[in-house]
Amino acid sequence: MLVELIVPCYNESAVLRMFYEESCKVINSIDGYDFNFIFIDDGSKDDTLSIMKDIALNDERVKYISFSRNFGKESAMFAGLKNSRGDYAVVMDADLQHPPTLIPLMLKAMEEGYDCCATNRSTRDGDPFLRTLFTRNFYKFINKISDVDMPDGAGDFRMMNRKMINAVISMGEVQRFSKGIFSWVGFNTKWIDFEDVERAAGETKWSFWGLFKYAMEGITAFSTVPLKIAIYLGTIVAASSFVYLFFVIIKTLVHGKDFPGYASIIAILLFLGGCIILCCGILGEYMAKIYIEVKNRPVYIIGKTNIDEPVDDYGRSNK
Ligand code: UDP
Ligand code: MG
Repeated sequence: MLVELIVPCYNESAVLRMFYEESCKVINSIDGYDFNFIFIDDGSKDDTLSIMKDIALNDERVKYISFSRNFGKESAMFAGLKNSRGDYAVVMDADLQHPPTLIPLMLKAMEEGYDCCATNRSTRDGDPFLRTLFTRNFYKFINKISDVDMPDGAGDFRMMNRKMINAVISMGEVQRFSKGIFSWVGFNTKWIDFEDVERAAGETKWSFWGLFKYAMEGITAFSTVPLKIAIYLGTIVAASSFVYLFFVIIKTLVHGKDFPGYASIIAILLFLGGCIILCCGILGEYMAKIYIEVKNRPVYIIGKTNIDEPVDDYGRSNK
């Protein structure tokens, strides 16, 4: 049985070697399985790629794929999964926030017959307070409005069998939101908890704005509820206008004509204007998504690799 560790890396020169050594300690002590590494250099600007090449020189289990530019972690994970040939694949971060010591537990779950073993961070001690607050609320919100279930704390750190890997890579969307994809494809998943730790070295690649955009991505990719807001909003506004119209007619019949009313007209006008702009904005979000999907650009482009027949995202093989 071949198990492949898929590791997206962007500017990870400070921690990559440490990651490799810690993982080797774990996998070398596991009997009955062969292991491979697939490092994905996501267009790093430091010497991440040369460290990968160096590690690969001394260890033939190490494969690397280097992108032509930075495509983002989602693309890196996709490239890793597409190029994996193993029976199992584990997706994990390079900063040791995903402890390799969980790999034996994951393998045990697979032996028990699960298709996937996913991890749940029981705490978020490694994250700043504000980020934790927003992330928790994001998960509450997205779970309410989408039909996939994404547990708070569920990361990308998970082991999958070939059946599930094939399902994940068959999902051809260009804008990928893996947490949703993993949940959408289903399969029998065992959840294990682990304590959050701070990254071993280097810096997080996420800015607040970056995370916000990612969250919007998740919502528009896995829920169409915001699109329906227009229907509800329109119904409520129309119903209230009707009630108000009725009130005005009765009032005019009883008390005669009445000139003042400027304030209420302005208020209603502004409210309706706001609703219309909001709905246009939501439509725009989804339209932008459709626009990007129909262009159907490759999710990643390989620059360099030591894999013999790498799978490009445009279906061709190159070296
Ligand atoms: N990463 C990547 N491409 C990017 C940003 C991040 O491949 O554009 C990788 C990064 O090298 C790390 C993983 O994704 O292995 C998680 O990134 P990070 O630790 O910065 O995120 P956090 O743990 O703070 O969520
Ligand atoms: Mg991290």
